[in-house]
Amino acid sequence: MTVQSVIDDLAKRPGTGEVIPVIDPATEEQITEFRDAGPQAVNEAVARAKATYQSGAWTDLPARQRAKVLWRLADLIDEHAAEFAELESLDAGMPPAQAEMIVSTCAEFYRYYAGWCTKLNGSSYQVQMEGGVNSTYANMHAYTVKEPYGVVGLIYPWNGPLFNACAKVAPALAAGCSSVVKPAEETPLSAVLLERLIAQAGVPEGVTNFVIGYGATAGAAITAHPDVEKVAFTGSTDVGKEIMRNSADNLKKVTLELGGKSPVLIYEDADLDMAIMMAAMGIFVHSGQGCVCGSRIFVQRSVYERVVAGIAMIGENLVLGGPKDEGAMISPLVSAKQLERVMGYIDQGRKDGVEVVSGGYRVDRKGYFVKPTVLTNVDPATSRLYREEIFGPVVTILPFDDDDEAVAMANDTSYGLAATAWTTNLARAHNLGKRLQAGTVTLNCQLVFDHNVPFGGYKQSGMGHEFGYEGIDGYLKTKSIWAAL
Ligand code: NAD
Repeated sequence: MTVQSVIDDLAKRPGTGEVIPVIDPATEEQITEFRDAGPQAVNEAVARAKATYQSGAWTDLPARQRAKVLWRLADLIDEHAAEFAELESLDAGMPPAQAEMIVSTCAEFYRYYAGWCTKLNGSSYQVQMEGGVNSTYANMHAYTVKEPYGVVGLIYPWNGPLFNACAKVAPALAAGCSSVVKPAEETPLSAVLLERLIAQAGVPEGVTNFVIGYGATAGAAITAHPDVEKVAFTGSTDVGKEIMRNSADNLKKVTLELGGKSPVLIYEDADLDMAIMMAAMGIFVHSGQGCVCGSRIFVQRSVYERVVAGIAMIGENLVLGGPKDEGAMISPLVSAKQLERVMGYIDQGRKDGVEVVSGGYRVDRKGYFVKPTVLTNVDPATSRLYREEIFGPVVTILPFDDDDEAVAMANDTSYGLAATAWTTNLARAHNLGKRLQAGTVTLNCQLVFDHNVPFGGYKQSGMGHEFGYEGIDGYLKTKSIWAAL
């Protein structure tokens, strides 16, 4: 299976909508183009998913056998890791080592959730209520069972395409759901290979159905479809809100993994070299296109100058480049649109009097590269770049004097995806773990992930979880069954 054959397959996919170009963001060259699948393809995919679900071909398979298919799929993904990494590099502009690292985590989603297939237990309950209708029966027993939602819609963004796909497809399969899956229109390539491997692993036809197209066409058609019982979405907060509104007609359940404006607190007692390095990588990696990127850094005043200078220096020295650039560490922004958006925030910041310590410009070469940018002298009350998610290599750094001020500034945001504290004071670290309003708090570490640890957003960063048991529970309904004995 060559990378070129995957690219050719994408171009041949049937569709009824606009022609969508696939652009290499590191060179601005067109890789291929394909036709937006359009609403008709979504209707057909939902019909296939519904028919397969009702046939029981997948959902009624004994759990052990479903698990074996997931293991086979994991092995196939590992066997094709090199092709996946190349496709992710091409599509998202990632340096090869970064693409390989991300791809190496993807097969594990299937192995991890294969383990859960045989452990989806309900509970049994004591019936305590006496009298009333219950007294008609001498003995009663109640228990719960877990059942798959049925047909689910899985919609994901471009910033880590295969990873985002697997975080949804694996638990949906393990739960016994059928799905309609939509990758981002900017980065569809890895989905084409994943689709092939899902079939090769032995998942029955019609269980996992990919539709590739725009959000406003294919995506909206999934979220509005009456036969889709649940939507799991990863993407921006604005689109997440639209998906909730769109899902209201049949009261679809929704799981939303949305944006962030994550704070990083650095104290004077921290291991400062480590904190500076990780805080810098925590915003500049993948050009800031990571949902947990720490885009607001707060530093205790006594070490403020040192931290600002250290992060700016790292940003200055990081080698930007695409898959073919020797030694590249940081990928470009994904598209011309994203480049315009990021530069728009920086330019507005300049007009507002923000101090640009380093970066702040588009790199003079082909590709959508923005120099890692450190900004200070920001007004938290009015600055748009401080309050809104930029999703680019742009960080603001502000000083604080004590815990209360640090926590107040960190929590002063409509987002709540992640937060970090760097301090060697153990009691303070754990207190911050409690006080920071975010679904994930990392203490003396950043950019950490495990398939077994639940991940989800507070406030406008989302609802529901991915990863861990919570990740599969989102694809399961709970039914209570009563029996008179
Ligand atoms: P986006 O919201 O524009 O698009 C995400 C997906 O939704 C794409 O597949 C897109 O085609 C689709 N979409 C767009 N409009 C739609 C609509 N009306 N109906 C249905 N689907 C629609 O996000 P993006 O710009 O592609 O990705 C960046 C965003 O994703 C950032 O906000 C980032 O924080 C977020 N993100 C969050 C997590 C997380 O786990 N919390 C992870 C990665 C990215």
